[in-house]
Amino acid sequence: MAGPAARRKSVGVNVGGVLVGGGASVVVQSMTNTDTADIDATVRQVMQLARAGSEIVRITVDRDESAAAVPHIRDRLASMGYDVPLVGDFHYIGHKLLTDHPACAEALAKYRINPGNVGFKAKRDLQFATLIELAIRYDKPVRIGVNWGSLDEELLTRLMDENAVSPNPMSAAAVQREAIIQSALLSAQRAEEIGLGRDRIILSTKVSDVQHLIAVYQDLAARCDYALHLGLTEAGMGSKGIVASSAAMGILLQQGIGDTIRISLTPEPGGDRTTEVKVAQELLQTMGFRQFLPVVAACPGCGRTTSTTFQTLAKDIQDHLNTSMPEWRERYPGVETLSVAVMGCIVNGPGESKHANIGISLPGTGETPAAPVFIDGEKVATLRGADVADQFKAMVADYIEKKFGAGQQAAE
Ligand code: SF4
Repeated sequence: MAGPAARRKSVGVNVGGVLVGGGASVVVQSMTNTDTADIDATVRQVMQLARAGSEIVRITVDRDESAAAVPHIRDRLASMGYDVPLVGDFHYIGHKLLTDHPACAEALAKYRINPGNVGFKAKRDLQFATLIELAIRYDKPVRIGVNWGSLDEELLTRLMDENAVSPNPMSAAAVQREAIIQSALLSAQRAEEIGLGRDRIILSTKVSDVQHLIAVYQDLAARCDYALHLGLTEAGMGSKGIVASSAAMGILLQQGIGDTIRISLTPEPGGDRTTEVKVAQELLQTMGFRQFLPVVAACPGCGRTTSTTFQTLAKDIQDHLNTSMPEWRERYPGVETLSVAVMGCIVNGPGESKHANIGISLPGTGETPAAPVFIDGEKVATLRGADVADQFKAMVADYIEKKFGAGQQAAE
């Protein structure tokens, strides 16, 4: 079986204590959607994202009030034990905000800038240089994040003009991809010329089309050794956004490309912002790159399952594991490697349950109302009665305590 390609070699970048690239595990990051000037709301959401497992959190810094709030947000989080690195997202006036708010420049762990809207014409170079000089002064890394929705128009026009008179013209889409890549690479080169270390630069080239995203990152990865931030921009809502992001990033990660990822999901109105973190974790976990949460294998159910017992139990178990993880990470080291199986009948139930650490095979239609439970491949009990679900949950809790609890750690 062909596994993933070897990770692409990239220069490691320290983002507030979190290593991105340089052979480190792929880092999960996210972004708030609160008004950063609203300190309470932003602190609350950063805490939610960090608790869900976001290892870096980006916040918008769009005006003086937001910049002034940043150090207070950082301090408030620190006072409650959250030291997640904060990244400032700057557009248009980043040079001015970072100049006018030194406490903000100091509090942030990284600056994200977009070369397409740093400034225009003569001002662009000057404002870009100011941003880079500030990053050097405060010893902060920078993500040069190109986005095809705000691509450097001058660069695109020049490449389109050159392509028009080329004897072997490329497609318009290929020229656009080239402009995206050149925008990132030329900006990084300029940042290095100003004095920013290669180990202080992360690149991203985000587009919203899956095939273009794969093509653009494959090309970018082959042309540089900067650490790369992966993301499908404007991925969309719900399953569409999840599938599109997972398809694009799954292929790139399998090819060894990508040092940090963000899933740019549009939340439902009033929806849970932490979904983007969970999806990023599930993507990395399901591909075998990282382990974040215990896995619950459950069959899809079919005509052999006329009751909802097994769907309810599978959901109960998954919810219980998910909500318990923030506490369990401390209390039960290694619990994220746990696998649980909840199966609907005898066809695949015992077999799948034997592959899990702990599994239950519920009775299907017409089967004896008994549910065998397997632990580490051995049948250990047969549960009966109306409270099978509660009995099984108690067995899972007991297994976790014995395998990952303090007693077990001491014994090993
Ligand atoms: S394990 Fe049984 S209930 Fe589940 S999908 Fe297969 S046949 Fe259907």
